[in-house]
Amino acid sequence: MLAMTLREYRAKRDFTRTAEPRGDAATTAGGTAFVVQEHQARRLHWDLRLEMAGALRSWAVPKSPPVTAGVKRLAVQVEDHPLEYATFEGRIPDGEYGAGTVKIWDRGTYEATKVTEEKIMLVFHGEKLRGPYVMIKTKFAEDSWLLFKMKET
Ligand code: MN
Repeated sequence: MLAMTLREYRAKRDFTRTAEPRGDAATTAGGTAFVVQEHQARRLHWDLRLEMAGALRSWAVPKSPPVTAGVKRLAVQVEDHPLEYATFEGRIPDGEYGAGTVKIWDRGTYEATKVTEEKIMLVFHGEKLRGPYVMIKTKFAEDSWLLFKMKET
């Protein structure tokens, strides 16, 4: 199952050229880590990655993830990444997929309170992302979600 989920990730990358992980390490079950990587590629964006089912489920967020309630951000789901990607920082060489600079913007743990095909409710325990958030799949484009912070009660 893990090999399936990482097939697209590996197909896009030449691991003899990029220092990004191939994703061969054994996985630990039941983890709930998250990371947000600021990725200065052709376009600056933030990659939100949630540990789920032995991989990092990933979304590209074109504007920085919201840290206050009331701000909605588009989050485009991309291919799953290997768990080891959560610690990756550095340069992806020119000519390679995602060429540019990756640095960790935030990281920590999260608790999912609801996960369906269309909706993820979660509580982040990071430095910047903290408290209750919702992700909702939109109807207007495939793989597009909205990410926003809920008011804390
Ligand atoms: Mn990216």
